[in-house]
Amino acid sequence: MTAAYTLPIPQADAASAPFFEGARRHELMLMRCRTCRAWRLPSRPRCPDCWSTDTEWARASGRGTLYSWGIMHQKLHPAFAEQVPYQFAVVELEEGPRIVSNIVGVPDSELRAGMPLHAVYDDVADDATIVRFAPDGAERPVLA
Ligand SMILES: [Zn+2]
Repeated sequence: MTAAYTLPIPQADAASAPFFEGARRHELMLMRCRTCRAWRLPSRPRCPDCWSTDTEWARASGRGTLYSWGIMHQKLHPAFAEQVPYQFAVVELEEGPRIVSNIVGVPDSELRAGMPLHAVYDDVADDATIVRFAPDGAERPVLA
């Protein structure tokens, strides 16, 4: 945990609580349809594939590939003024859904579409963990 972490911490609501509780355990939890087995993110009550409301939360692999990314230079929120520039990305998970996250542990110039990534878990507070992604082969990077 970073004692001086001062960035905003995502607040779970009823629909996203299992995701954030999983992150605390260092598990990537996603909603899955019990009827057709399709994974979905964000969580929502009805399956977009088969329209079923029979739902469960299941542990995803945490593996994916870089689908798209950008480098944030603008200080859109005062709390991030010291963080820019930073990488933000859309990661296509092995299970299919795409997740918006940060990429860590790789220089901007080495980001490539399709590069293999895995989830890393940044314990930013005693009760909060943020899911980010790092290139395969990279150890859990030290986050600023
Ligand atoms: Zn379904």
